[in-house]
This record gives sequence, structure tokens and C-alpha cells, in this order.
Amino acid sequence: MQTQVGIIGGGPSGLLLSQLLHLAGISSVMLERRSRAYVLGRIRAGVLEQGFQDLMRRAGAAQRMERDGQVHGGVNIAYQEDRLRIDLEGLTGGKTVMVYGQTEVTRDLYAARDALDGVVIDEAEQVMPHGLEGDRPYLTFVKDGAAERLDCDFVIGCDGFHGVSRSVIPADRLQSFERVYPFGWLGVLSATPPVNEELIYARHDLGFALCSLRGPQLSRYYLQCRADENPDNWSDERFWARLKTQLPAEVAARLVTGPALEKSVAPLRSFVAEPMRWGRLFLAGDAAHIVPPTGAKGLNLAASDIHYLSSALIDWYKRGDSAGLDSYSARALARIWKAERFSWWMTALLHRFPENEGFGNRIQRAEFDYLMSSKAAQTALAENYVGLPY
Ligand SMILES: Cc1cc2nc3c(=O)[nH]c(=O)nc-3n(C[C@H](O)[C@H](O)[C@H](O)COP(=O)(O)OP(=O)(O)OC[C@H]3O[C@@H](n4cnc5c(N)ncnc54)[C@H](O)[C@@H]3O)c2cc1C
Repeated sequence: MQTQVGIIGGGPSGLLLSQLLHLAGISSVMLERRSRAYVLGRIRAGVLEQGFQDLMRRAGAAQRMERDGQVHGGVNIAYQEDRLRIDLEGLTGGKTVMVYGQTEVTRDLYAARDALDGVVIDEAEQVMPHGLEGDRPYLTFVKDGAAERLDCDFVIGCDGFHGVSRSVIPADRLQSFERVYPFGWLGVLSATPPVNEELIYARHDLGFALCSLRGPQLSRYYLQCRADENPDNWSDERFWARLKTQLPAEVAARLVTGPALEKSVAPLRSFVAEPMRWGRLFLAGDAAHIVPPTGAKGLNLAASDIHYLSSALIDWYKRGDSAGLDSYSARALARIWKAERFSWWMTALLHRFPENEGFGNRIQRAEFDYLMSSKAAQTALAENYVGLPY
């Protein structure tokens, strides 16, 4: 089998890239380890920056997003009983975010790929890149028990944090930076009306809570938990009771509860691998970096990587210009580190850290009070939350 660009991983990064390349007349084959049903069933992010929305439009996959996505001009931060609305739109000259679930984004992108007869090989096992330091790399994999080979010009690792692509880069050619947080998020999806029309990030002495949403009758709530927490230990009753405790009373009073449709624990981690290129292998999205979800940046960073990488590949194929490929890693990392900083800052502001009792708690409160009183601080938050320019 032969193609121009071999893509490992069929998450948002791989899907967006293969679609944008296809529309520019560049062929690709995407190898995904899981079944289509599994990939479409994953519940993950839900807040899209303008840049992500624009890429969906360019990919010709924005129809449902335009219809069902909810535009949010503000976001709320609560500290115990105090609540502050950050006027994203007013503070950033009209910029907003859109609430539209990653599950729906993935569904739309698969539909767009199928409509163009894009080649996606699901349940591709033992995917392995080879020859990355030469001009003719290739991928080997097993499909339905048979060994296969895919020859290509470039290999793009879009296979998430636990994928294979980053692991084939020699240790002396890759530098990793990591912070693992001493807690995770316990998430519940419920078919209930959201408690608030905009997101509420809440910091309470018992820990962090987030009221998010996926639609008018679909809510997503999170509670800070132990990193190794077993979601089965949380009955629906226990979850709702704890959430009510950790929200300001006027919000808790409005909370509509119902059976959990999904309950899962996500660990929190900051991670960056540098550089994002080795020979003919390029990393994009979670394969190269992870942020804690507090700033809603994971999915959005995948989109900015794909923006840079798709333009670079198009320049290479259309004009023989390698400047974009050569500068891809540095360009992407410049934006990634700013999002890493913001996500780390939001996490530090809003969570309960075991080592923070006393001094650290007072600093958190002072940070929140400063945010309440300073338009400059609110503007900085707003500017980062809606997404820094590409
Ligand atoms: C549980 C969870 C909750 C999250 N919540 C949020 C949130 O609330 N807000 C936010 O902004 N971000 C969130 N994120 C982050 C966000 O979902 C990711 O940043 C985003 O999915 C990145 O897209 P990606 O395509 O780079 O990687 P992924 O979506 O991880 O896609 C990688 C794909 O590669 C496939 N793959 C892996 N290994 C191989 C292999 N060896 N061979 C072939 N295929 C392989 C995987 O099956 C997967 O389909 C969450 C992530 C997780 C895991």
C-alpha cells in the first residue's frame, strides 16, 4: 500500500489533518488502533476556541457544529460563595468560545472523511514506523491477522499520549518536561438541564468542581478526586451530594440531578516533548503534549498543531518549500508552552493541593481576590481562555 502521508491515530488531530490534506489534493492513510464505535464513544473535551472552529469550517465538517454548538461570551469562576463572571467577549474585543463536545467533533470529522472516501483503517494492530531518518519511511501493521506495509513520504504521529510514535524517537533526541498533579477529575455526564448557561469553575475547601455542559439537556460535571480514584466507589447520590457541597449555595440550589450516563476518572498531567520532529516523523496533539483540562486547552492545542502542520505539508507538496516543515516544531511549541502555562495557572488557582494548607491557601484566595478587583487580570484570563492567536 502507498500514500503520501501516513497518519497514526484517528482522534481529532489525525482526522483534521487527513481531511485538510485531502482537500488540498494530498493523499493520506490513517491507521487507528481502536474500532470506530470505541473512538466515537469517548467522552472528552467540549470547549472549542475560534481557531478550532475555523479549522472545522475549512475541513468542511462544521455544519452540525454551527447548528448545535453554543456560543459562550463568558465564563464563571467561584471561590467558596463568591462568584465572578469573566466577560470573555467584552474583554477580548468580541471573541467567544463554543461549547460542542469532542464526541460530536469526532463524529462530524469521520462523516466528512467517509463522504470523500478517505482511507481510515480501523483496528490496525501493532502499528510501527520505520525508516524515519531516510527519504522513504514506511509503516507496518497487522489488520485482520495479516501483516501489512504502508509506504509514504512522511509519518505523522497523532496517536495520543500513550501512542507508539513518540516512543520510537531515540532518547537522546527527545527532551520531556512533565508535571503530574496529585489528583484527578471524576466526571459525570447526565441527561439533565445544565445548572448554568455558562461554565462555572469552582474552588472550595474540599476541592475543585466544574459545571460544564454539552447541550440544553446534557450536562457534564466534574469533582476533584484522588488520581487513583475508582469511579465505581461513587454512587450517583454520593456524587451529587458532594457536588452540591462544593458549589456556591445559590448554584447548588438550582442543580438538577439525574442518573449518570457515564462516570470516569481522568488524571491531571502537564507534559511536553521537544522537538516535535525526528527526521520524517512529526508529532501532533496529545502525542507531543498534555495539559490538565482546567483551561480547556487539550483539544484546542491539537488544532493549532494541525493548522501549522497542514500548511507546512501543503507548501512542501505544492511548492517544494520545506520552510514550514523545518520551523513546525518551534512554531507549535511557542504556542503550546503558553497554553501549558495557562492550564497550570488555572489548575493551581482552583484545586486543593495537599501540601498547600496554610500559606498556599491564602495565596489562592489572594489570587482570586485580585482577579475580582482587576480588569487587567480578568483580561489576561479572558485572552488565554478564548485562545491565543495562531
Ligand atoms: C479522559 C480524557 C478527558 C479529557 N477531557 C478534556 C477536556 O475536558 N478538555 C480538553 O480540552 N481536553 C480534554 N482532554 C484532552 C483532549 O481530549 C485531547 O487533547 C484530544 O483528544 C487530543 O486529540 P489527539 O487526536 O491528539 O489525541 P487522541 O484524541 O488521544 O487520539 C489519538 C488516537 O490514536 C489512537 N492510537 C493510540 N495509539 C495508537 C497506535 N499505537 N496505533 C494506532 N492508533 C493509536 C487512539 O486510539 C486515538 O484514537 C481529555 C482527554 C482525556 C483522555
